[in-house]
Amino acid sequence: MRRPRRGAVPPTAAGTLAAMSEPVPSTPDVLEKLVSLCKQRGFFFGSSEIYGGINALYDYGPLGARMRRNVRNLWWRAMVESRDDVEPIETSIIMNPQVWVASGHVATFSDPLVDCTGTCRKRWRADHLGDLRRERGKPEDAPGCPECGGPLTKARQFNLMFRTHLGPVADDAAQVYLRPETAQGMFVNFATVVQAMRRRLPFGLAQLCKSFRNEISPSNSIFRTREFEQMEMEFFCKPGTDVEWHDYWCTERMRWWTEDCGVRGSRLRLRVHDKEELSHYSTATSDVEYLFPWGWGELEGVADRTDFDLRSHMKHSGRDLSYFDTETTERYVPFVIEPAAGLDRGCLTMLVDAYDEEEVRGEKRVVLRLHPDVAPWQVAVLPLSKKPQLTEVSRALAARLRTRFRTEHDETQSIGRRYRRQDEIGTPLAVTVDFDSLEDNAVTIRERDGMTQVRVPIEQLERACEDQLAACRASALKRARE
Ligand code: ATP
Repeated sequence: MRRPRRGAVPPTAAGTLAAMSEPVPSTPDVLEKLVSLCKQRGFFFGSSEIYGGINALYDYGPLGARMRRNVRNLWWRAMVESRDDVEPIETSIIMNPQVWVASGHVATFSDPLVDCTGTCRKRWRADHLGDLRRERGKPEDAPGCPECGGPLTKARQFNLMFRTHLGPVADDAAQVYLRPETAQGMFVNFATVVQAMRRRLPFGLAQLCKSFRNEISPSNSIFRTREFEQMEMEFFCKPGTDVEWHDYWCTERMRWWTEDCGVRGSRLRLRVHDKEELSHYSTATSDVEYLFPWGWGELEGVADRTDFDLRSHMKHSGRDLSYFDTETTERYVPFVIEPAAGLDRGCLTMLVDAYDEEEVRGEKRVVLRLHPDVAPWQVAVLPLSKKPQLTEVSRALAARLRTRFRTEHDETQSIGRRYRRQDEIGTPLAVTVDFDSLEDNAVTIRERDGMTQVRVPIEQLERACEDQLAACRASALKRARE
């Protein structure tokens, strides 16, 4: 849950488990270039743009939707499918409003807000003023509004939950909220799942779904939006074992970002919260942070939420959410470790981390060095020209490859432009069908990062792609660990 912000923390102040070679920040214009590329190539763009858009809401195009699906799958695989101690769950977006009273969101899920009374009249998060000034090239402690320098009002608290009404009567009794986090769905269903699944502790409940926050100052493209997707897991354990499990999940989550998603460890850190920064429910929290072009930003929080939520729901609902350990015959309220990550921020991180420009034979090449398991496509099949004798072969090959790999067939524009497009959207392999292919039954595989080319017999194509993708995964791992 939202904690008070205290500006960017310098890298040296970080507690860390991550590789900590001195990070090299990306140039500030990387985000601008990337956002424009993402729109042009169909990753993401402002929502309902034909009506002038709507602030801090985004739509994902065909490539973004594919990439998001891949990242979701990686998380699902790591957190649910590859484990025997985590169960999946999908809970509703609108819950009984008492849930948000018990969780503390009605009373405390708010940000301090200030208004500019000078020329720009903009509204800001009071705890973000330092960062906002820095982003605009001003000293963090400069007086007044970050934009125009005008006077600011005193801070007021603003609750971030979106409200709506259930049923036809729009009065206070029917007021409900769009959930601001998925976590509470797991807490309120804890006892039901224990019983239904005959679960013993420790075990986790994982959920990957949308959340909504009426952010005051959304910023940096899809980093902070008003509708976003969370990848959260609540791991219920015996009190006293929580410190150990918290360490375990910090390490495991850092591993996931680097090894499974290919994010460079040199740009990641695990920042331990000091006492004043901790949320009211937490005894220990560490944030996984990435060094974005504008500075360090949180991707995931790993919190020891103690028994706060379960106890609070017990108090407010009158239901018993304690756990009876049949082995030790003890009854207790479990402690909870929560790794909570953002899918949209995760995708932005992977895109920023992958963005690269280089000069090849006197020309600028833009390439997204995405991990092959994250990239929208794994293989692009490109006939050298649009001649029917080539496209017939290439389409059949694409159909064959599609059963094993995420495969695109692209026959528009010159082959040079098509390679450029595939580099820009991060496709690791391009298979080219040329006129010789009709004679020698072989095709050329071009690999994205090194631009190396090999000729392989068509009958061995699947095997060759498999090998090349394995090599891409190995080099992504090497890059992530550097
Ligand atoms: P922040 O301080 O950046 O607002 P938070 O500490 O409030 O984040 P949590 O409540 O811990 O965030 O949520 C877990 C994760 O959900 C965050 O690490 C982030 O990846 C994602 N997330 C939270 N708010 C947003 C948002 N407005 N837009 C996109 N992702 C978000």
